[in-house]
Order: sequence, then C-alpha cells, then structure tokens
Amino acid sequence: MKIRDILAQGRPTLSFEVFPPKTEDAYDTVERAAAKIATLKPDFMSVTYGAGGGTSDYTVGIASDIQKSGVTPLAHLTCVSSTRDKVHSVLEELKNHGIENVLALRGDIPADGRTPREYHYASELIHEIKQSGDFCIGAACYPEGHVESANKSVDMDYLKEKVEAGCDFVTTQMFFDNSILYSYLYRIREKGITVPVIAGIMPVTSAKQIKRITQMSGTYLPSRFLAIVDKFGDNPAAMKQAGIAYATDQIIDLIANGVRGIHVYSMNKPDVAMKIRENLSEIL
Ligand code: FAD
Repeated sequence: MKIRDILAQGRPTLSFEVFPPKTEDAYDTVERAAAKIATLKPDFMSVTYGAGGGTSDYTVGIASDIQKSGVTPLAHLTCVSSTRDKVHSVLEELKNHGIENVLALRGDIPADGRTPREYHYASELIHEIKQSGDFCIGAACYPEGHVESANKSVDMDYLKEKVEAGCDFVTTQMFFDNSILYSYLYRIREKGITVPVIAGIMPVTSAKQIKRITQMSGTYLPSRFLAIVDKFGDNPAAMKQAGIAYATDQIIDLIANGVRGIHVYSMNKPDVAMKIRENLSEIL
C-alpha cells in the first residue's frame, strides 16, 4: 500500500524504523527484530540505507521481509555517494519486490568529501524516482534546520524544492522539544508546503546515544531531558525506562495537539517498540 493513502485516512499513524545489517552474518538477527516489530502491526516500517551502522546492500531484502509479514515497507535510498546506474538498479529491485514507498535522501557527504558527483541534492533523486515508476516518495525535513544550512529559511526553500519535485510526505529529524515541531509546522504551512509531515521520535535508551545525536545533528536537548540523562545515565535499565517514558510523553502531546504521523526511530529494538506501542494502547 502507498503511504500517502495510509496518511490520507485522517487518523493518527504509528510507524517504526529499522536499519539493515552490516554483514550477511547479522542478517537473521535484523530480520528477526524486524519481524517482532512487525507483529505490532504498525502503519508502516522504514528501513534505512547505509545509516545507523547498517549497509545499503540489505535494505531491499529487509523491506521485502517486512512486506511479506503484511506490513507496508518504506525503503530509504540515498544518492550522493551513488551512481545513476546503482540508483536505477535499486529502484528496479524495489519494483520487482512490489515495494511502492521510497524515502529519497541525499545522504551524508563522506568524511573525505569524495563522491561520484552524479547527484548533489535529494531533489535530483526525487525527480528521477518520479520518472522511474509509480512510487510514493517521502523526503527528510529538519525542524531545527539541517546542519549544513546557513539558516532555517534557506533550508525551508530547499524543502519546498523537494516537495515540488514530487514528494508525497516528509519525515522529520528527531527532536526532543515539541514546541520546535509546532513552530516548524506553522512555518511549513505558511511557506505553502501542504504535504503530510510525520514526526520522528527517538526513544533515547542509553546515555551513549545522546553524544552521537548531538554530534550528528546538533539537536537541542531541553533541560527536562538533560535532567533525566544526568540522573539515570549511569544506570542503563533506568535510563531505558526513562527514555521510553520521555518518548511516550512526546508522542501523547503530539497526538493531543493534532499531529497525525508518528515515526519511532526504534533502532532494531523490538522491546522498545513494544513498550511504546503498549503505552499507547488506548490512545492509538
Ligand atoms: P537534501 O535535502 O539534499 O539537503 C542537504 C543540504 O543541502 C541541506 O542543508 C539543504 O538545505 C541543502 N540543499 C538542498 N537543496 C539544495 C540546493 N538546490 N542548493 C543548495 N543547497 C541545497 N542518511 C542515510 O545515509 N541513510 C538513511 O537511511 C537516512 N535516513 C534518514 C531519514 C530521515 C527521516 C532523516 C531526517 C535523515 C536521514 N538520513 C539518512 C540522514 C540524511 O541523509 C542527512 O541528513 C543528509 O545530510 C541530508 O539528506 P537530505 O536528503 O535531507 O538532503
């Protein structure tokens, strides 16, 4: 099913993200984790492409496993480190597996700055996917601005370019302060961007994750969140419980304020996905 049709149903949706394995040996472990998350019957599940410790090689495989389990998959695809031939071969593979949803991304520029220079921005990939078949296309957006952007206004101009290139919905970078999302939604609509915005929520379950998050994306960490890390950061079980509770609070507040799409960065952790689903059992 196409995600744009799921989002058009006018009800809140809950989806989860997994990342593919780095090596073939780890495939079964990831497949099992994805299968467990799929038993929660989320509205869809996304599979990253070469991010979060995984590789691009197994994205289509894991997405296809998710499809077989009866859950709609969303396959991520990045372009900046890729060639046109590679992109088109992945799109053919997706078609062959009946996968209809693609999250079109630029990807991070490698540390040495070397890329094949066939793609520069996600909007170019979106154009090409649009011409390559009947895909439902999503893109990334950044409530706090993308780290490379000069300012939020310029970032929004480029987001508009992506939407005009043909994307059907956008998913946000993680954020820990809902008021940042609310003001972003206001600005996005003011700019004339009308596609659904799915809120990306990261349940932080270990203190180590936080350092990575702030290094990668410069995300603002509110004092209420920092107090939790301060208090429970050295106690993994307590940190996990508090991190899940914080994410649950964020989700409940978003739904109460009319946000319909919730995407949980569940990071191949079925127990975390299950707990969040359970915490929302009467809400969703
Ligand atoms: P773009 O939209 O191309 O933007 C990149 C930068 O260029 C921004 O600063 C933007 O303002 C600027 N820009 C855009 N267009 C132009 C233009 N025409 N001229 C000048 N500047 C321009 N990474 C992975 O490797 N794999 C994944 O699976 C993955 N999944 C993600 C999922 C989500 C929901 C999010 C939010 C991010 C994900 N990422 C993933 C990370 C993403 O690849 C990086 O954030 C990357 O640096 C930017 O990708 P983008 O598609 O947003 O790029």
